[in-house]
Amino acid sequence: MRRRMTKIIATLGPASEERETIASLIEAGMDVARLNFSHGDHDWHRRTARYVREASAEAGRAVAILQDIQGPKIRVGRFPGGELDLQSGATVRIRAGSGETASGELSIDYPRLVEDLAPGQTILLVDGRVRLELEAIADGALVARVIEGGVVKSRQGAAFPGAALQVPAVTDKDRGDLELGRELGVDYVGASFVRSAGDIRQVAALAAPDVPVIAKIELAAAYENLTEILEEAHGAMVARGDLGVEMELERLPRVQREILSVTNRCGDVSITATEMLESMIHAWRPTRAEVTDVASAVLAGTDAVMLSGETAVGDHPARVVKMMDRICREVESGPQHRDTPTIDFLEQEAPVPSATTRSAVEAATALDLDTIVAFTESGSTARLLSKYRPGARVLGFTPEERTYQRMPLYWGVEARLFQRFDSTDDMLSMAEQRLVAEGVCEPGETVVMVAGIPPNQRTTTNFLKLHRIGQA
Ligand code: PEP
Repeated sequence: MRRRMTKIIATLGPASEERETIASLIEAGMDVARLNFSHGDHDWHRRTARYVREASAEAGRAVAILQDIQGPKIRVGRFPGGELDLQSGATVRIRAGSGETASGELSIDYPRLVEDLAPGQTILLVDGRVRLELEAIADGALVARVIEGGVVKSRQGAAFPGAALQVPAVTDKDRGDLELGRELGVDYVGASFVRSAGDIRQVAALAAPDVPVIAKIELAAAYENLTEILEEAHGAMVARGDLGVEMELERLPRVQREILSVTNRCGDVSITATEMLESMIHAWRPTRAEVTDVASAVLAGTDAVMLSGETAVGDHPARVVKMMDRICREVESGPQHRDTPTIDFLEQEAPVPSATTRSAVEAATALDLDTIVAFTESGSTARLLSKYRPGARVLGFTPEERTYQRMPLYWGVEARLFQRFDSTDDMLSMAEQRLVAEGVCEPGETVVMVAGIPPNQRTTTNFLKLHRIGQA
């Protein structure tokens, strides 16, 4: 079967923390390992990141690490006994705070609860399954009616659709976690609960220099500010879990398509996340609806699909990755995939790289070529090529270890570490030898080569060659 172009992100957790399991996920097709900093202590993340690096080196294939920070998620406090059963129709008092509440009361860890919310506001708990409506404010507390009841557990999330809350972009926990991320040399940072471009700047300032930040779009405010957020972020994740609490569920499919399309048009990386193969946490096979969901994301042009609980706490993590891999390959082999909406010509931001990479993809298509070689320092040549959705594979040749580690997230790109050259001729000739030695190309075959020349100098993607193997 054809090689897979859409990339797979798998979240690591208790079900996938062993070195052998991580190796089996890589073997099954994991391109990016997500470390979810809402769970696990620093020792756990340190050990797991080390296992990913070791298993990736053993497999001889780059695997990126995405550090997903928790962000300013608002949560309920602790209940005596660990949970509170809210009956539909009852009223409940809600105070600001995170400590243990008096029996029958709720607390929420947002200090300006009383100041920033007004009667009529909806409050959602338990992923939106429990719904309250704020009726009054009395004695420094909220009084809310339970519209849809259920059992709420200590420290679960709370959402306030439409409310303008004053929440800092990063918490003290995030600061400590980002410091660990710098120590571990993570390849991407996922920023949770961001609302604006300013929030992305704050996260980026605390992450290691130049580490790309992926904006998780999980608040209505982030969706509204998507274009400005993408000016600062390297990509956007449709974080459907929390986004599906923030807005009516029936809006999600349309919003997902729009986020993917806007992100792709800007030349940034697009990711679709959450509940993609959810039933496979326990089940041996996915549901028809889940298979179709993954397929729709691929057809809508997502660069990557993400697994969460399926690989973090599920019964058979590698089996789920294999299933995701099979679905993506099958969809990509169909004719509709050719219509995938993608990048605009980046006339304003990057006209020369954009024209060069677009022409490279058009040439590869016109001549039905199998391979495009991108010589890339920062990875942006490979990313732009990928965003024009070539039928050919893109081999990203880089002398930069950090770029090598980042490229696995780019649609259709295979990363290769390569020497640094001062002369273009030497670079092409060594690349040619490498392609033949790897068995990727046959002598006499034509490939497209794309680079910024002269090499090893500050330049832009300005070079495109139709190169016959054996010619250099
Ligand atoms: C989501 O909400 O869909 C998401 C990806 O975020 P998290 O898994 O951190 O809740």
